[in-house]
Amino acid sequence: MTEPAGAKESQAREGFVPRSDRPHLARIDRLRRALGKEVVLLGHHYQRPAIVRRADFVGDSFLLARQASRAEARWIVFCGVRFMAEAAAVLARPGQEVFHPDPAAGCPMADMADPSDVEEAWETLTSVLGEEALVPVVYMNSSARLKAFVGDRGGLVCTSSNAERAFRWVFEKGKRVFFLPDEHLGRNTARAVGVPSGEVLLYTFREQGGGLEEDEIRRGKVFLWSGHCHVHVFFRPEDVERARRENPGCRIIVHPECPVPVVEASDASGSTERIVRFVREAGPGSTIVVGTEVNLVERLALDFPDRRVLPLAHSLCPNMYRINPKALADTLEGLASGAPRGAVNVEDSVRSGARKALERMLALPREG
Ligand code: SF4
Repeated sequence: MTEPAGAKESQAREGFVPRSDRPHLARIDRLRRALGKEVVLLGHHYQRPAIVRRADFVGDSFLLARQASRAEARWIVFCGVRFMAEAAAVLARPGQEVFHPDPAAGCPMADMADPSDVEEAWETLTSVLGEEALVPVVYMNSSARLKAFVGDRGGLVCTSSNAERAFRWVFEKGKRVFFLPDEHLGRNTARAVGVPSGEVLLYTFREQGGGLEEDEIRRGKVFLWSGHCHVHVFFRPEDVERARRENPGCRIIVHPECPVPVVEASDASGSTERIVRFVREAGPGSTIVVGTEVNLVERLALDFPDRRVLPLAHSLCPNMYRINPKALADTLEGLASGAPRGAVNVEDSVRSGARKALERMLALPREG
């Protein structure tokens, strides 16, 4: 069967689109036109290209949180994982509603920090250091309940694009950081702001007292929760060596959720926004190898056909991938037909603490 007119051009923009998705993409386009300014579509960088192309705003979790807090539309449809949609719901204005196309699209790393385990850890650490000495900093990749826990204790949310600023914010107050849930982002950030490795301690939540003795706790400046993102711990220093061997002269950038040895072996590391900038600035003819979720790498390769953009290894987030064209079209259909589905509700008891933690992040001063 021949491709319809324009299919080649659309393939260049959207990558491979299964035939079964095409009617749903057409439904999305039709429904977007019908809904007009009533709805705004936010898309995370890790979404498949066909979804990203249809989003009003594309970004990392920081930019999308900011966008959600400024959106004028009555309905926000969030194409990302659940914690992102929850953060948008926390920041939404009265009368605004947030919808998530697939409630099962969660984040395994966010689920590694159960608020009751975190509460126990907080008690262990503060019983030695005192409540005033410690500030919790929670990665955006966490439940609204955990953000509320942090917000209610004077802490803040951060993303991979402002984690260093968040750590400095704490240190400027003469306090120590309790960072959760991603050990690796915490380690890379502590390293970037110059905390000696001996003062960075891992709180292993499966062990009694986090596996830490009292005198260890007293010397700690940064305490890390032992969570990780399976998409990013997949990358190994050997992948970096192989990429350099196979692509002489290439530049390698990885996400800071990767383990420290991978970051150390690479040329640069940074948030998804920084990765996009790195590829844009690399210039035509260059080869850039990227260690992050493969959908972003695929889209960058489509967006910059005059340079080679290669994945460090093929690592996909199945939860991000759950947001498919059918799920998005069904969500829009629900809004257009007056039978909405997928509304994201955050309990009032959680909302105010989570909002405090998010607003502290949004108020962080810009650096450099
Ligand atoms: S890429 Fe990692 S941190 Fe992001 S949603 Fe997937 S599992 Fe969670």
